[in-house]
Amino acid sequence: MTRQALFADLMAELTLGPAPQSLIGGSLHQGSGAEITLIDPFTEEPLTRYPDAGASLAALACTSAQTAQILWMQRSAAARGQVMQDIARALLARAEPLAKLEALVAGKPLRDTRVEVAKVAEMFTYYGGWADKLHGEVIPVPTGHLNFTLREPLGVVFQITPWNAPIFTAGWQIAPAIAMGNGVVIKPSELTPVTTVALVRIAEAAGLPAGLVNVLAGLGPTSGQAAIEHPAVRKVIFVGSPETGRRVAIAAATHLKPCVLELGGKSANIVFADANLAQACLGAQAAIFSGAGQSCVAGSRLLVQRAVQDELLDMLASGMNKIRLGDPLDPETEVGPISNARQFAHIHQMVANAGGRTVTRETTPAKGYFVAPTILRGLTNAAPAAQTEIFGPVVTALPFEDEAEAIQLANDTAFGLAGAVWTADVGRAHRIAAAVRAGTFWINSYKAIHVSSPFGGSLNSGFGRSSGSDALLEYTAPKSIWLDSAVVPRIAFGYVS
Ligand code: NAD
Repeated sequence: MTRQALFADLMAELTLGPAPQSLIGGSLHQGSGAEITLIDPFTEEPLTRYPDAGASLAALACTSAQTAQILWMQRSAAARGQVMQDIARALLARAEPLAKLEALVAGKPLRDTRVEVAKVAEMFTYYGGWADKLHGEVIPVPTGHLNFTLREPLGVVFQITPWNAPIFTAGWQIAPAIAMGNGVVIKPSELTPVTTVALVRIAEAAGLPAGLVNVLAGLGPTSGQAAIEHPAVRKVIFVGSPETGRRVAIAAATHLKPCVLELGGKSANIVFADANLAQACLGAQAAIFSGAGQSCVAGSRLLVQRAVQDELLDMLASGMNKIRLGDPLDPETEVGPISNARQFAHIHQMVANAGGRTVTRETTPAKGYFVAPTILRGLTNAAPAAQTEIFGPVVTALPFEDEAEAIQLANDTAFGLAGAVWTADVGRAHRIAAAVRAGTFWINSYKAIHVSSPFGGSLNSGFGRSSGSDALLEYTAPKSIWLDSAVVPRIAFGYVS
């Protein structure tokens, strides 16, 4: 079967129509804007073409979410949570076609997309459980009133997601938003729109009210900008690059709308000489080569204590040659191609201009957007390759002498997303974890994540939190209610104190 035929089969199996469309109010809608081509990153051949959603579909999606949100809030919190549990079960029942479609379009290995689809189901289970458990507070004010807070939904939120983990990121943002009673418009990357539509299609068949979550299949500057500006949208949640994040934040600020920005990173993975080097090497491989390095938390700066640098980098280089590169649809494949031509060109350009000494895997498949896993040596931390997010399987190795230098190098970046330390010294592990600026930090581990734990960054990595109970707070606002229960209420001409 050709890959175009497989694409058509999976689209039909998931009731998505022949080509990507927007999902609004429970129906598929074809856009009217510029044509977008999806290219299979493994074959470099076109998979399909579709038109950008455009401003009028963006407006329809926002009003549809607004209407459905009011009805959603008329259900009990427990009933809303129950729908989310049903969605989780329905997603697991359709996990295989979802994982295959994601692998085909995003070029991500099936072994990863299977895990990500399972994690999306877990997100609906987790946040469905929260739907009736986020309480307000009773505050013991000194005025004699009963003062309490209600946690209210914001209304309609607009979510923008990137191409590197499309269905995972969609579930990550949709689940807490609807658990707290919001309506959603979501715009996945124009390069990977179909699994987000599939997720919502499956959710609707499992009981999600039509129109509560609407998917815009299209471009950022047109469809995305129109949704940011729409009066129904109360908050913008953006996951993507710092450059686009800045544009989105400015557009939102122009309309006085708050944002969450989940942006990129240049995370330091720090290895001390006392670490278990075999484990640290496996951790370093997972940190930068899994997902072909297309991960916001990638350990793209490998800081190694000078005494063991050569030994560790030799181990890493020999490990690079054993990674199974290949067809994302092959369950044995560990690393697939880069997801799209633009990113492929960016990585090549960064490596070509990096300077220093390049240690590269010996072979890569002849066709497809494959980049050989690469170690850059002999650079300083000031080099562009050590400061810019490459978002590919390329790690800059930097030596350090002692704890103080490791911390200084780790924090000498414009980002603040993640990091890790490998050491046998528990006191040192805690000192480093406390001193490195990061929203997530691992000790003798890398890339452990769970929906119950908060996630986010600072500086060029953005602001706000996704995941865990912190994400619920991003999707609600507290309302403070004052009730005077005195027999004769004390009405003051001014403040009641
Ligand atoms: P990108 O910034 O190019 O695009 C992200 C999204 O923004 C896409 O949906 C795109 O269509 C949309 N967009 C573009 N211009 C827009 C505009 N003017 N208005 C509204 N929307 C617009 O990012 P990408 O290349 O798709 O993804 C890679 C980036 O995402 C990397 O920097 C990576 O680190 C980051 N990322 C961050 C996290 C995190 O949680 N921190 C997770 C995954 C990826």
